[in-house]
Amino acid sequence: MFSGLAFFCGAAFGSWANMLAYRLRRGMSVWHPPRSFCDICGARLGLIELIPVLGWAVSAGRARCCGGKVSPIYPLVELAAGALAAAVAWFCWGGLRSGS
Ligand SMILES: [Zn+2]
Repeated sequence: MFSGLAFFCGAAFGSWANMLAYRLRRGMSVWHPPRSFCDICGARLGLIELIPVLGWAVSAGRARCCGGKVSPIYPLVELAAGALAAAVAWFCWGGLRSGS
């Protein structure tokens, strides 16, 4: 349960890191537009697409707005960040519970 929460926080962080990397590479502002948008057509992303990993999985790696292919790098980064956060949380929580 706790690890699941940590995973989601980590995945959200991974999603944010993706956005940051994407915008910085293109010399764009990190704050504007405030919401994520489609790489291909520039449409604003819907709520489902904003969910880390799951958003990519439910649309089978395709953008819902224009059907363009979304790079699997994005969910992979989110997955890696989520797994890392869950592992850290699991180890820390386990350490606390063993009374050390
Ligand atoms: Zn699109």
